Amino acid sequence: MVTVIFTNLKFEEFLNNANKFMKNNRIFRYVSCIALAVLSAVLTVIASGVTVGYTVKYSDEVIAVVSSQADYDEADAIVLNNLDKEKAKKASISPKFGLTLTIKDRLSSTQEIVDAIVDNNDDLVEATALSVNGEVLFCSNSKEISSLVDARLNAYAVDGAKNEVKFMDDVKVEKGYFLKADIVDLETAKFIIDSLNVQTVSVVTSTVEVPFETKNIADPKKPRSYSLVTVKGENGVTEKTEKIVKVNGETVESTVLESKVIKEQVTRVVTVGTGTNYISATTKANIQSAGFICPISSGRYRVSAYYGDGRNHKGIDLAADRGTPIFAAGAGKVIYSGWDGDYGYSVVIEHSNGMKTRYAHANALCVTKGATVAQGDMIATVGSTGWSTGNHLHFEVIVGGVKVNPGPYIGLR
Ligand SMILES: [Zn+2]
Repeated sequence: MVTVIFTNLKFEEFLNNANKFMKNNRIFRYVSCIALAVLSAVLTVIASGVTVGYTVKYSDEVIAVVSSQADYDEADAIVLNNLDKEKAKKASISPKFGLTLTIKDRLSSTQEIVDAIVDNNDDLVEATALSVNGEVLFCSNSKEISSLVDARLNAYAVDGAKNEVKFMDDVKVEKGYFLKADIVDLETAKFIIDSLNVQTVSVVTSTVEVPFETKNIADPKKPRSYSLVTVKGENGVTEKTEKIVKVNGETVESTVLESKVIKEQVTRVVTVGTGTNYISATTKANIQSAGFICPISSGRYRVSAYYGDGRNHKGIDLAADRGTPIFAAGAGKVIYSGWDGDYGYSVVIEHSNGMKTRYAHANALCVTKGATVAQGDMIATVGSTGWSTGNHLHFEVIVGGVKVNPGPYIGLR
């Protein structure tokens, strides 16, 4: 309209006409002034960020101002995220919304709404929760949960070794919002943490002592009672690197990754006599006065170990079937019959000349202490009781308290 007027009239004419119009028309002047004022006010308001929002009220108290109810719902969902449906339903408060004008800057951020919801709900609290395979086992307001979990993880790690530790289940420690009622005390939390299953894989290097071996060299020129160590044995040392898998501290698997000899063992060398034992004149006289017979019938035994025998063996071993009769080597009095430690079931007979004979490792005993026996009486049967590796009679002859070589007393070397 103005443009049309402007093009049809000369500029001076237009100004004059306009001036006249303004002067003659006061009402139009006022109206346009007010319109301009309103327009500038609206422009000012828009520029300063005023906007329409909603107050969020919990029982008449404004806890936040949001731009839409959806903003509140988003924050509420964050708060209730860790709770199961039923608990969430119980804990949730339905707010009242009120329309309001506000400045954009004053709208609550999502975190501010979340904080306001938690601060204004007596049932909720920010806490640390421990979950196993997605299920919350407990929540706690203690700051120690993470360090307790770390301590549990490392409980079975080997000092000075390379350790890999992990929980056998999917364990998570997360901060979140929970029901105050579900908070447990620290002792309960610790108890639950300490029952989590931990796998520890440790690579451990250790040194192991290897016992030396013994090699006997027979010397038929020396009697059976002779034995001499010619090379001293020395233990070896091996360095072993092992992978050890433990579950809750108990080893379930161990694999040797590397074994390295640090020091070779030195084999002990012993010269052992295999010849006939020397018999002195005194011994010969003793043998004659004793007049012993062999305690097992000939043909029913074989000598499995002689006296001495390079290992300080103080008797002679007559291997025989279990149950083979054992006879008294000479007449005398039974001074022991019963269990006697390494000897197993054994009998000791004291003879009239003061000599004693012992019969050890018996299967059964046929005499009791105090009994008098004649030469050849059955006193026991062959067995393998006590420190024994097979059925045999360990026979001893004791002269003046000394266990002498019984061989020559019973017609053996
Ligand atoms: Zn023996």
